[in-house]
Amino acid sequence: MSQGHRVVVIGGGIAGLTTALSLIADSPSPIHVTLLEAKDTVGGIIRTSPFAGLPAVDEAADAFLVRVPHAQQLATELGLGAALTAPTGAHASVWHNGMHDIPSDLLLGVPAKARAFARSTLFSPYGKVRAAIEPLLPRTIDNDSVGHYVRKRFGREVHERLVDPLVGSIYAADTDSFSMAAVPQLAALTSERSMLRAAGRARAAATKNSQPGAPIFGTPLRGMGALIDTLSSRVTSLGASIVFNARVHSVTKSGHHYTVHTDSKDYECDAVVVASPARHSAPFIRDLDSHAGELLADWTHASVVLITLAIPASQWPAHLTGSGYLVPKPDQRWVTAASFGSNKWAHWRPTDGSMIVRVSLGRDGLDVMHFDDDKLVNLALADMKLHLGVDLQPSEIRVSRWAESFPQYRPHHSSKLAEVEQSLAVHSPGIVFAGASYRGIGIPACVQQGRAASTAIHAHLSTL
Ligand SMILES: Cc1cc2nc3c(=O)[nH]c(=O)nc-3n(C[C@H](O)[C@H](O)[C@H](O)COP(=O)(O)OP(=O)(O)OC[C@H]3O[C@@H](n4cnc5c(N)ncnc54)[C@H](O)[C@@H]3O)c2cc1C
Repeated sequence: MSQGHRVVVIGGGIAGLTTALSLIADSPSPIHVTLLEAKDTVGGIIRTSPFAGLPAVDEAADAFLVRVPHAQQLATELGLGAALTAPTGAHASVWHNGMHDIPSDLLLGVPAKARAFARSTLFSPYGKVRAAIEPLLPRTIDNDSVGHYVRKRFGREVHERLVDPLVGSIYAADTDSFSMAAVPQLAALTSERSMLRAAGRARAAATKNSQPGAPIFGTPLRGMGALIDTLSSRVTSLGASIVFNARVHSVTKSGHHYTVHTDSKDYECDAVVVASPARHSAPFIRDLDSHAGELLADWTHASVVLITLAIPASQWPAHLTGSGYLVPKPDQRWVTAASFGSNKWAHWRPTDGSMIVRVSLGRDGLDVMHFDDDKLVNLALADMKLHLGVDLQPSEIRVSRWAESFPQYRPHHSSKLAEVEQSLAVHSPGIVFAGASYRGIGIPACVQQGRAASTAIHAHLSTL
C-alpha cells in the first residue's frame, strides 16, 4: 500500500458519506478512506423510489432546510444546484376537532407576535390570554425539557397544539422528555426572559438577512436519493472504498492503531469515524471504553411508519388545498401527521391528477411497529376519515417502516455526549462521532457533522 493515513468510516448514511467526501477532498496529504456499511446499499434512512407513475417519491426525508446551509452547499458542490426545487408555499394545518390553519408569525411553534394567536381558531379564549401574558412572566428556570419550558411560558394550549406537534413532527418526539438544548432554534430563545420577544427579534433578523420570498426548504427534483447517489459516486471516484454488507461488530486498539472487525474482514487504520446510530455503535465502542459504550447504549430511538397513498382525483375534496396537517397528542389515535404531497411539491403531481399523500404513524411513546402493513393502512385510512370526513380508497399504497430511526435527545443529551467523547479522548483518541444520534438529526446537521468529523480526524492525524 502507498504511504498515507488510513481512516475507516462506519456507516453509509448521509453523515458517513459526507465525512468520507471531506476526508479525501480536504486532505493535505494522501489518505485511504474505507467506508463500511452494514447493508447492501448506502443512504441509511434516506430512500427514494418510483410511485404512482412518478419516477421519484421519497420514502422518508423529502426536504432539507436551506437557511441552515450545509445540505444545500453539499448539493451545489455535487453539481445538483440547478436540480433543486422548493415547496409550493401551501399552508399547513393542525387537526383539533377540525382543521385549523397554523398561525403565521411563529418560530417552530413559538409565537413571535401576540397577534399570531389572537386571531387563530386553534385556541380557546383562555388559551389566548394565557399565551398573551408570557412577556410579563418571570424568567423560567431551565430544566432542559422543551415541553416543560414552553408550557411554563405560554400555557398548555400553545404547547399541546403548536410546539409539541411541530417539534414532534421533526423529531418523532414527546417534547416533555426532549432536550431544549438539542433544538437550537428554540434554545436560542431562552437566553432572555420573554420567549415571545426573543422569537420576534429572531424572526425579524431572519427576514432581514434573507431575500424576500427565499425558500426555507429545498430538495433535488429527483428526490433525496439523488443526493445520496451523486455523493456516493463522488466519494468512490475520489478513491474511497465503500464496502457493503460489512457490519462492524468490534473495534480494538493497539498502540496508535485501530482494527475494525467485520464478519468477513478486519480493517487496520489510524482513526475511526463512527457514523452509525448510537444504539448500533454501543457494542463496538464498549470494546474500547466500557463507560462510553454503556452511555451510548442508553440512547433511545423512536420508530415511525410512513405510508404513501395515491388518491384518485375524483375522491379528493376540492377544499383541501393545503400542504397537510399535524395531529396534537391528545387528539392522536395513530396518525401523527399527513402531508398532501401533490399540494406541497409541484413535481409530485401524477398525470392522472391523483393526490400523493404521505401519512406518518408512530413516535416516541406511540409504537406501531408490531402492526402488519394491512393493519397500518387501515388505521391510517380510519384516522383520515375522522380528520377529513371522507372515506379514501387509494389506487396505490406503499408502506415504509423506519425502525428506531429517530434518536431521542433526552434532557441533558449534550452533556452525556460530552462525557462519551471525553472518556474516549483519554485512551482512544482518533474516534470521532457524526450523524443523527449525536448533534442534530436534520440532513443539514448530519452534513455539518460529517464536515466537522473530517476536520477533527485531520487534526488527529497531524499529531501522529
Ligand atoms: C421518516 C423520516 C423522515 C425524515 N424527514 C426528514 C426531512 O424531511 N428533512 C430532514 O432534514 N431530515 C429528515 N429526517 C431525518 C434524516 O433523514 C436522518 O436523520 C438522516 O438521514 C440520518 O443520517 P445518518 O447518516 O446520521 O444516519 P443513517 O441514515 O441512519 O445511516 C447510518 C448507517 O449506518 C449503518 N450502520 C449501522 N450500524 C452499522 C454497523 N455496525 N456497521 C456498519 N454500518 C452500520 C446503517 O445501515 C446506515 O446505513 C427524516 C427521518 C425519517 C426516519
